[in-house]
Amino acid sequence: VEGIELHRQQPTMQTFLADIVAIDPAGVVELNRTAFYARSGGQQGDTGLLGEVAVRDTIYAQDGRILHVIDPGDLQRLAVGTTIEGRIDWERRSRTMRLHTAQHLLYLAAQSAWGERHNTGGDITDERARIDLARDDGEAAFDLSALTDALTSLIAADTAIERYAGASDARRWYWRTGGLEPIGCGGTHVQSTGEVGHVTVDLKRKGSRNVRLTATLRDSG
Ligand SMILES: [Zn+2]
Repeated sequence: VEGIELHRQQPTMQTFLADIVAIDPAGVVELNRTAFYARSGGQQGDTGLLGEVAVRDTIYAQDGRILHVIDPGDLQRLAVGTTIEGRIDWERRSRTMRLHTAQHLLYLAAQSAWGERHNTGGDITDERARIDLARDDGEAAFDLSALTDALTSLIAADTAIERYAGASDARRWYWRTGGLEPIGCGGTHVQSTGEVGHVTVDLKRKGSRNVRLTATLRDSG
Protein backbone atom coordinates (compact mmCIF):
# COMPACT_ATOMS: atom_id res chain seq x y z
CA VAL A 1 0.00 0.00 0.00
CA GLU A 2 2.95 2.36 0.69
CA GLY A 3 3.63 3.34 -2.94
CA ILE A 4 -0.08 3.86 -3.50
CA GLU A 5 -0.48 6.41 -0.70
CA LEU A 6 0.76 9.64 -2.26
CA HIS A 7 0.24 11.70 0.91
CA ARG A 8 3.01 9.79 2.70
CA GLN A 9 5.66 11.43 0.50
CA GLN A 10 3.63 14.49 -0.42
CA PRO A 11 1.33 15.50 2.44
CA THR A 12 0.43 18.80 0.75
CA MET A 13 -0.81 17.19 -2.48
CA GLN A 14 -4.32 18.50 -3.17
CA THR A 15 -5.01 17.04 -6.64
CA PHE A 16 -3.69 14.01 -8.47
CA LEU A 17 -4.43 11.77 -11.43
CA ALA A 18 -5.16 8.08 -10.90
CA ASP A 19 -6.73 5.09 -12.63
CA ILE A 20 -9.92 3.51 -11.33
CA VAL A 21 -9.08 -0.15 -10.66
CA ALA A 22 -12.28 -1.36 -8.98
CA ILE A 23 -15.80 -0.16 -8.22
CA ASP A 24 -18.01 -1.94 -5.69
CA PRO A 25 -21.81 -1.66 -6.02
CA ALA A 26 -21.96 -0.80 -2.31
CA GLY A 27 -20.41 2.55 -3.27
CA VAL A 28 -16.67 2.25 -2.89
CA VAL A 29 -14.01 3.08 -5.46
CA GLU A 30 -10.45 1.83 -5.53
CA LEU A 31 -7.65 3.69 -7.35
CA ASN A 32 -4.15 2.63 -8.39
CA ARG A 33 -2.83 5.48 -6.22
CA THR A 34 -4.39 8.16 -4.05
CA ALA A 35 -3.65 11.27 -2.00
CA PHE A 36 -6.85 10.74 0.05
CA TYR A 37 -5.98 9.92 3.67
CA ALA A 38 -7.80 6.79 4.85
CA ARG A 39 -9.23 6.99 8.38
CA SER A 40 -6.61 5.66 10.80
CA GLY A 41 -4.51 6.58 13.80
CA GLY A 42 -7.46 8.56 15.17
CA GLN A 43 -7.47 10.90 12.14
CA GLN A 44 -10.65 11.15 10.10
CA GLY A 45 -10.67 10.03 6.45
CA ASP A 46 -10.47 12.62 3.67
CA THR A 47 -13.40 13.85 1.61
CA GLY A 48 -13.31 15.56 -1.79
CA LEU A 49 -13.98 14.74 -5.43
CA LEU A 50 -13.21 12.03 -7.96
CA GLY A 51 -13.94 13.89 -11.17
CA GLU A 52 -17.36 15.40 -10.39
CA VAL A 53 -18.32 12.69 -7.89
CA ALA A 54 -18.24 13.49 -4.16
CA VAL A 55 -16.06 11.31 -1.92
CA ARG A 56 -17.85 11.11 1.46
CA ASP A 57 -15.11 9.29 3.37
CA THR A 58 -11.90 7.33 2.85
CA ILE A 59 -11.34 4.10 4.75
CA TYR A 60 -9.15 1.00 4.79
CA ALA A 61 -10.64 -2.38 3.87
CA GLN A 62 -9.75 -5.27 6.21
CA ASP A 63 -6.99 -6.28 3.79
CA GLY A 64 -5.46 -2.79 3.65
CA ARG A 65 -6.93 -1.62 0.33
CA ILE A 66 -8.00 2.04 0.32
CA LEU A 67 -11.69 2.59 -0.34
CA HIS A 68 -13.14 5.92 -1.48
CA VAL A 69 -16.74 5.99 -0.28
CA ILE A 70 -19.28 7.56 -2.67
CA ASP A 71 -23.06 7.64 -2.92
CA PRO A 72 -24.24 4.48 -4.72
CA GLY A 73 -26.30 6.77 -6.98
CA ASP A 74 -23.04 8.16 -8.41
CA LEU A 75 -21.61 4.75 -9.39
CA GLN A 76 -22.61 4.99 -13.06
CA ARG A 77 -20.64 8.25 -13.37
CA LEU A 78 -17.34 6.36 -12.91
CA ALA A 79 -15.83 3.52 -14.94
CA VAL A 80 -13.07 0.99 -14.22
CA GLY A 81 -10.00 1.53 -16.41
CA THR A 82 -10.47 5.28 -16.80
CA THR A 83 -8.12 7.96 -15.49
CA ILE A 84 -9.66 10.48 -13.15
CA GLU A 85 -8.63 13.57 -11.22
CA GLY A 86 -8.82 13.27 -7.44
CA ARG A 87 -9.26 16.48 -5.47
CA ILE A 88 -8.98 16.59 -1.68
CA ASP A 89 -11.35 18.93 0.21
CA TRP A 90 -8.35 21.05 1.16
CA GLU A 91 -10.05 23.43 3.55
CA ARG A 92 -11.17 20.47 5.64
CA ARG A 93 -7.83 18.63 5.36
CA SER A 94 -5.81 21.78 6.23
CA ARG A 95 -7.74 22.20 9.45
CA THR A 96 -7.31 18.48 10.14
CA MET A 97 -3.53 18.72 9.61
CA ARG A 98 -3.28 21.75 11.90
CA LEU A 99 -5.30 19.98 14.59
CA HIS A 100 -3.40 16.71 14.12
CA THR A 101 -0.14 18.58 14.65
CA ALA A 102 -1.69 20.46 17.60
CA GLN A 103 -2.54 17.09 19.18
CA HIS A 104 1.14 16.07 19.06
CA LEU A 105 2.21 19.45 20.44
CA LEU A 106 -0.34 19.09 23.27
CA TYR A 107 1.35 15.82 24.19
CA LEU A 108 4.81 17.42 24.16
CA ALA A 109 3.54 20.45 26.09
CA ALA A 110 1.96 18.20 28.72
CA GLN A 111 5.24 16.30 29.19
CA SER A 112 7.08 19.55 29.84
CA ALA A 113 4.36 21.24 31.94
CA TRP A 114 3.03 18.25 33.90
CA GLY A 115 5.77 15.63 33.74
CA GLU A 116 5.95 12.40 31.76
CA ARG A 117 2.67 10.60 31.31
CA HIS A 118 1.10 8.14 28.88
CA ASN A 119 -1.11 9.06 25.98
CA THR A 120 -4.16 6.80 26.48
CA GLY A 121 -6.32 7.83 23.52
CA GLY A 122 -7.47 10.58 21.23
CA ASP A 123 -8.95 11.45 17.86
CA ILE A 124 -8.76 14.18 15.24
CA THR A 125 -11.33 15.78 12.97
CA ASP A 126 -11.32 19.10 11.15
CA GLU A 127 -13.16 20.64 14.13
CA ARG A 128 -11.13 19.48 17.12
CA ALA A 129 -8.30 17.28 18.32
CA ARG A 130 -8.58 15.33 21.56
CA ILE A 131 -5.87 13.61 23.53
CA ASP A 132 -6.32 11.61 26.71
CA LEU A 133 -3.46 11.51 29.19
CA ALA A 134 -3.01 9.28 32.22
CA ARG A 135 -3.64 10.87 35.60
CA ASP A 136 -1.74 9.56 38.60
CA ASP A 137 -3.70 8.38 41.65
CA GLY A 138 -4.49 11.33 43.84
CA GLU A 139 -3.33 13.85 41.26
CA ALA A 140 -5.96 16.54 41.63
CA ALA A 141 -5.02 19.83 40.05
CA PHE A 142 -3.68 20.43 36.57
CA ASP A 143 -2.21 23.78 35.72
CA LEU A 144 -3.80 24.48 32.35
CA SER A 145 -2.00 27.81 31.94
CA ALA A 146 1.41 26.08 32.30
CA LEU A 147 0.35 23.71 29.55
CA THR A 148 -0.98 26.40 27.23
CA ASP A 149 2.22 28.43 27.79
CA ALA A 150 4.31 25.41 26.74
CA LEU A 151 2.04 24.84 23.75
CA THR A 152 2.18 28.49 22.71
CA SER A 153 6.00 28.39 22.85
CA LEU A 154 6.15 25.32 20.64
CA ILE A 155 3.85 26.96 18.07
CA ALA A 156 5.60 30.36 18.25
CA ALA A 157 9.01 28.69 17.70
CA ASP A 158 7.73 27.77 14.20
CA THR A 159 10.22 24.91 13.83
CA ALA A 160 10.16 22.73 10.70
CA ILE A 161 8.37 19.40 10.92
CA GLU A 162 10.44 16.66 9.33
CA ARG A 163 8.80 13.41 8.28
CA TYR A 164 10.73 10.31 7.38
CA ALA A 165 10.26 6.57 6.89
CA GLY A 166 11.80 4.18 9.39
CA ALA A 167 15.34 3.00 8.64
CA SER A 168 14.54 -0.65 9.38
CA ASP A 169 10.91 -0.63 8.21
CA ALA A 170 9.99 1.84 5.47
CA ARG A 171 6.28 1.30 6.21
CA ARG A 172 6.68 3.02 9.59
CA TRP A 173 6.66 6.81 9.53
CA TYR A 174 8.10 9.23 12.02
CA TRP A 175 8.21 12.97 12.47
CA ARG A 176 10.21 15.31 14.66
CA THR A 177 10.60 19.02 15.21
CA GLY A 178 12.91 21.43 16.98
CA GLY A 179 15.39 18.78 18.14
CA LEU A 180 12.69 16.97 20.17
CA GLU A 181 12.38 13.21 20.29
CA PRO A 182 10.98 11.55 17.13
CA ILE A 183 7.35 10.40 17.32
CA GLY A 184 6.00 7.49 15.29
CA CYS A 185 2.98 8.59 13.22
CA GLY A 186 1.84 8.11 9.64
CA GLY A 187 -0.78 10.88 9.73
CA THR A 188 -0.72 14.19 7.92
CA HIS A 189 1.02 17.15 9.59
CA VAL A 190 1.64 20.77 8.68
CA GLN A 191 5.17 21.74 7.54
CA SER A 192 6.13 23.81 10.57
CA THR A 193 4.70 24.26 14.07
CA GLY A 194 3.74 27.89 13.35
CA GLU A 195 1.17 26.71 10.79
CA VAL A 196 -0.92 25.32 13.66
CA GLY A 197 -1.84 28.92 14.46
CA HIS A 198 -4.01 29.99 17.39
CA VAL A 199 -5.67 27.20 19.33
CA THR A 200 -7.90 27.09 22.37
CA VAL A 201 -7.35 24.23 24.84
CA ASP A 202 -10.01 22.79 27.08
CA LEU A 203 -9.24 20.42 30.00
CA LYS A 204 -11.65 17.85 31.46
CA ARG A 205 -11.45 14.84 33.74
CA LYS A 206 -12.11 11.58 31.93
CA GLY A 207 -13.03 8.90 34.44
CA SER A 208 -10.79 8.50 37.46
CA ARG A 209 -7.57 7.74 35.60
CA ASN A 210 -7.37 10.20 32.71
CA VAL A 211 -7.62 13.81 31.69
CA ARG A 212 -8.80 14.86 28.26
CA LEU A 213 -7.37 17.86 26.42
CA THR A 214 -9.38 19.23 23.50
CA ALA A 215 -7.88 21.70 21.03
CA THR A 216 -9.96 23.84 18.68
CA LEU A 217 -8.76 26.35 16.09
CA ARG A 218 -9.55 29.88 17.13
CA ASP A 219 -10.06 31.03 13.56
CA SER A 220 -12.59 28.36 12.56
CA GLY A 221 -15.53 29.76 14.49
ZN1 LIG B 1 0.94 12.57 13.60
